[in-house]
Amino acid sequence: MTKDFKGKLFVFSAPSGSGKTTIVRHLLAQERFNLEFSISATSREPRGKEIDGKDYYFISKDDFIQKIKKDEFLEWEEVYMNNFYGTLKTEVERIWSQGKHVIFDIDVRGGLRIKEKFPEETLAVFVKPPDINELLRRLKNRGEESEEKIAARIAKAPIELATAPMFDKVIKNYDLEVALQETEDLVDEFLGLSKN
Ligand code: 5GP
Repeated sequence: MTKDFKGKLFVFSAPSGSGKTTIVRHLLAQERFNLEFSISATSREPRGKEIDGKDYYFISKDDFIQKIKKDEFLEWEEVYMNNFYGTLKTEVERIWSQGKHVIFDIDVRGGLRIKEKFPEETLAVFVKPPDINELLRRLKNRGEESEEKIAARIAKAPIELATAPMFDKVIKNYDLEVALQETEDLVDEFLGLSKN
């Protein structure tokens, strides 16, 4: 255990369907980065092949509200009506105690809150999709949700896109290969691993 280790925090935020999860997974696969995924708590139902304790900690809405009252969250949001999502303080402690850096896949407000709380340690990255039609196409292709739920995600996109300038960096995910390379470069630089 590296008890006193204080690692870095990498926040990836974007409208749903922007490809941020693909980017986060790619970075997690790069061993030199020594990253560990911050598992959020959520009150929404598991989707597809999601696993409790791996993709999310799936908890009831009542449990979630209890944890808010007990001040157990670093940040939390009601991202969609009646669906709560949040980062437990214990997640960052868990990951840092393993001597690793934390990577977050969270909504824009949550991402900015992490940056506010850990300004020096955090690199906050906004992943920008080509346009809203492309978002809609990607969400439909995913085929995991009802039209109504997709519409709720799309409705939020313009507000989320407007927050891009508040992030440290913006990655345009127009071509996935390019976006992956650019993000790797950002992480290399923030960790001081880049050659130049
Ligand atoms: P999904 O339902 O697609 O898994 O996630 C919906 C949105 O909630 C995504 O934008 C996702 O990044 C965000 N989200 C996931 N975990 C957290 C969290 O811990 N805090 C906040 N603020 N947003 C989260």
